[in-house]
Amino acid sequence: MKLIIRLYVNEHVNLNCKVIAAEKTQHGWQVSIKKKNWSNGHYFHPEQQIEEEEFTREYSHLIVCSGLHNVPYIPKVDLENFNGTLIHSNDYRDAERFKNQDVVVVGSGESASDIALQISKTAKSCTIAQRSAPGTLFPRFIQGSTADTRDDRLTYNLPRIWRSFILRGHRRYYQIQKENKAVFHWAARSNFENNRCAFNTNACKSFGIPESIVHYKAKLKPEIAYTAKDDVFFKDGSQVKSDAIIFCTGYKLKFSFFSDQLSDQLIPINNLWKNCIHPDLDSLFLVGFSRPQQINLVTIAEMQARMVALVISQKKTLPSKETLLNEINKDQSWMRKFYGNRYEKNPALVDFLYYMDSMAEFIGCQVPLKKAFIKDFALWRKLVFSSLNGAQYRLVGPGSNWHESAQVIKGIPTFLNRKNALLRWSVLSVLTMISSFLGLFNKDYRSVKKQAGMDSLGRA
Ligand SMILES: Cc1cc2nc3c(=O)[nH]c(=O)nc-3n(C[C@H](O)[C@H](O)[C@H](O)COP(=O)(O)OP(=O)(O)OC[C@H]3O[C@@H](n4cnc5c(N)ncnc54)[C@H](O)[C@@H]3O)c2cc1C
Repeated sequence: MKLIIRLYVNEHVNLNCKVIAAEKTQHGWQVSIKKKNWSNGHYFHPEQQIEEEEFTREYSHLIVCSGLHNVPYIPKVDLENFNGTLIHSNDYRDAERFKNQDVVVVGSGESASDIALQISKTAKSCTIAQRSAPGTLFPRFIQGSTADTRDDRLTYNLPRIWRSFILRGHRRYYQIQKENKAVFHWAARSNFENNRCAFNTNACKSFGIPESIVHYKAKLKPEIAYTAKDDVFFKDGSQVKSDAIIFCTGYKLKFSFFSDQLSDQLIPINNLWKNCIHPDLDSLFLVGFSRPQQINLVTIAEMQARMVALVISQKKTLPSKETLLNEINKDQSWMRKFYGNRYEKNPALVDFLYYMDSMAEFIGCQVPLKKAFIKDFALWRKLVFSSLNGAQYRLVGPGSNWHESAQVIKGIPTFLNRKNALLRWSVLSVLTMISSFLGLFNKDYRSVKKQAGMDSLGRA
């Protein structure tokens, strides 16, 4: 590793650099950089002192990968009179500090799930204050498999017309689980009553909240109305004593190195083509600013990076400004139609399979299902029934390697419980066949325009 870094990375990459400012010039970007021992030495030279310097360089293109989680966000609540500890999840390290205390955890996302579960095990009391119900509750493990083995193309490719069917099927599936029954039942009810499924909401990939409630006596409350010295009052008029409030309320996106004017052009991020490119700024690329409703962000970021590399190296040309604007508009209407309020609150949200497939179409690396079916049936089986991953988009097109990608894809585990998996795949296959018979898979149907024309039940 050290040798690779010495030979290849150091020559092309400047480590320990922070971008202080970046400004658009006539020919590209002027970037001000501060080099310093930011992380007290990176892993390669922990003992080495980096010579501190500030410099400015010109670049033809700028790729921003500074992440979605920049400024810890705390909602506007009257906290002035509160005597206890107030922290954001960003500053949370472990539950030890809150042992035997009365703690309020605010939020319903991934951080709230993890923190509420830890806190509820050791604190005197744990109260979870939620403005809205969690996203689709999705366990990390199910029947001996990691839950993401269920994230297959067969499911995500289904036309959204089957949304309420998926919602009911998901509830039934949780209800018949024999292990950790009470938690699965809680999650089934929460998902169903709050209309949460993979076709309309981002997932909460943990059972932390149901487990803390069912097993560790955490209490659920609506959002905080106001606080007094040692008390927290909730919007339903109830109150609890509290030594600490932990805000797991997410982050605000901020580009500290851009001018306010440029930031305003880029935020909300869904004003960009594929959350990557502003139609007026073809030398600026944003990678990693798309949060999928399920699966993961990293696979999307890889796809975005491939697109950026092809555009910068002029192997692909971006569509005209008019087409970019048109596609932005279509993507927004599609997300608004199906993800509604969740999308308004989180404009980085994208629908994983549709996003990936549309990007693959631009790159020219669409998953070759027909070819795989004829050439290698075992591979086709994995492409359809196994969890979605980046290797599927490396079978053909630029940067592809059929043999190696096929090996990776075939090595990905499928759901372990055969009986259960077969039942699920049979039902989904029947729905797929019906959809196919009804002509719901033609290109036009999959286009945003057609789907955006559906009503809230997913009917055309
Ligand atoms: C609690 C939590 C749970 C999550 N769980 C999942 C999950 O299960 N699956 C998933 O896919 N994603 C998850 N995410 C999202 C996760 O953050 C991303 O998937 C992943 O970290 C994104 O990688 P990134 O490189 O785009 O951004 P980051 O990991 O945020 O990296 C951004 C980098 O940019 C650097 N940077 C910022 N500003 C500057 C500057 N001015 N100059 C130089 N460098 C700068 C930062 O130091 C940082 O190293 C989770 C996030 C949180 C907070």
